[in-house]
Amino acid sequence: MRLDRFPRAHLAQLPTPLEPMVRLGTQLGLPRLFVKRDDQTGLGLGGNKARKLEFLLGEALAQGADTVLTVGALQSNHARQTAAACARLGLDCELILRRSRHATESYLHNGNILLDRLFGARLTIIDAEADRDAAMMRRAAELSQQGARPYLIPAGGSCTTGDLGYAACAQELLQQTDALDASPVTIVVTTGSGGTHAGLVAGFHMLGAAVRVVGIAIESTRAEQEALVYGQAFETAKVLGAPLPLPRERVTVFDEYVGPGYAKPTQAMREAVALVGGCEGLALDPVYTGKAMSGLIGLGRGGFFSTEETIVFLHTGGAPALFAYPETLTEN
Ligand SMILES: *Cc1c(COP(=O)(O)O)cnc(C)c1O
Repeated sequence: MRLDRFPRAHLAQLPTPLEPMVRLGTQLGLPRLFVKRDDQTGLGLGGNKARKLEFLLGEALAQGADTVLTVGALQSNHARQTAAACARLGLDCELILRRSRHATESYLHNGNILLDRLFGARLTIIDAEADRDAAMMRRAAELSQQGARPYLIPAGGSCTTGDLGYAACAQELLQQTDALDASPVTIVVTTGSGGTHAGLVAGFHMLGAAVRVVGIAIESTRAEQEALVYGQAFETAKVLGAPLPLPRERVTVFDEYVGPGYAKPTQAMREAVALVGGCEGLALDPVYTGKAMSGLIGLGRGGFFSTEETIVFLHTGGAPALFAYPETLTEN
């Protein structure tokens, strides 16, 4: 897979480690359980957005942009890593962040938002019901009028350019699992704005690798999420020059672990965060990876995996949000 024809900014520490989770695997009866440490990409406390930002900001620099705009929830990990990347590359960063009904002191001022400020981003905080994309467009028009050169990144950095970061990750993962002589391989990943999931699917398809990718939804229904991911994976596969069509079966989503909604805690998420913390000394987050791990645990208990299978949990980061929701992990 040739990715060197796409502009790329060097931002992430790669490859991230692939580590066995021996104690958790024993607990779950999954002898070949691993974690891919994309929480350790290094940029602004790490996480999956670093890989997308390498291609997004590579493109921004190639276009001569001087100001980067993006949108997210108030506690967006994507916004935090975008702020860090812009600081490092000397670009101005403007974040349009949407409030939620959740309005504790920690939520409003700690975790990711504290880091956004530390990394020097300009924050615009809008109402829970406001249209964040429209707000970003308005601000971009204003900046253009003032002579700036804005570059806009959609929520989560999920678009064909950003998703290339996870096609690259598919290649990196395949090298690591091949070195372990692992086969068959299943990747379990959180699927939100969809780019991480889509990039992996496109990358494995391009490489002709029979790696199964299982997405655990944290917001949408299975039908919505599979359509979202397939659309992005298709576009990314096209840009990569992969053989088409992309088989529809490559995209699999489980939506049983969403609970009452985005960023709303579930009991299974709390159990997953506590179990992984206690078995592995590893910090998951309450919004994304905690729910994804509750999916892995639920599927494992339901007999979804075979014992010969190598299972890789893609840890996409998010731990800074733990400090924004300290009550989430203790209340019932
Ligand atoms: C953004 C994010 C995800 C979801 O990735 P998408 O590409 O948006 O689907 C998962 N985990 C964490 C910690 C994130 O910040």
